[in-house]
Amino acid sequence: MRHDLPQLPYPQNALEPHISAETLKFHYGKHHQKYVDNLNDLIQGTEFENASLEEIVKNAKGGIFNNGAQVWNHTFYWNCLSPKGGGGPQGKLAEAIEDQYGSFDAFKEAFSKAAATLFGSGWAWLSKDKNGKLHITQGQNAENPLRDGLTPLLTCDVWEHAFYLDKQNKKPDYIKDFFLIIDWEKVSSRY
Ligand code: MN
Repeated sequence: MRHDLPQLPYPQNALEPHISAETLKFHYGKHHQKYVDNLNDLIQGTEFENASLEEIVKNAKGGIFNNGAQVWNHTFYWNCLSPKGGGGPQGKLAEAIEDQYGSFDAFKEAFSKAAATLFGSGWAWLSKDKNGKLHITQGQNAENPLRDGLTPLLTCDVWEHAFYLDKQNKKPDYIKDFFLIIDWEKVSSRY
């Protein structure tokens, strides 16, 4: 099975001024594409040749996992963002966040801290478990909560390639701007 680079849900300049077209050109056009190409090369002749991307994320190891999960994670990340984003969660997710964290602001602080304090490359995640309980986690490199039986709701890519062109070393500024473009409609619908 060939894996393809999915279309972005918006034009490459749509997230400006928070994330530049230049960043999207490299982050989506080069990094995400490269993970797709690597994955297609690596699965040739292996047990994962005909596996779905989700099966690869859940079960693969080494390079196949790293590249497969990076394909999944980036597609998910793009689908957490929208030029019409910002604001806050809706419906049941809004209730669950208030319930568990006390307020949206307290959640935002906890999620931002997880993103900001991740050492090295990786992802900050908001996921739910089978009982609907929310989990904020840090994942090194390509890690994905699907491997822990969780359902991802929201992710923030905190690899330097996600923000270095726009923000250089100012990772907290990237995380602050990330909150202005979260597509809460999509994120809430995943809960
Ligand atoms: Mn990335």
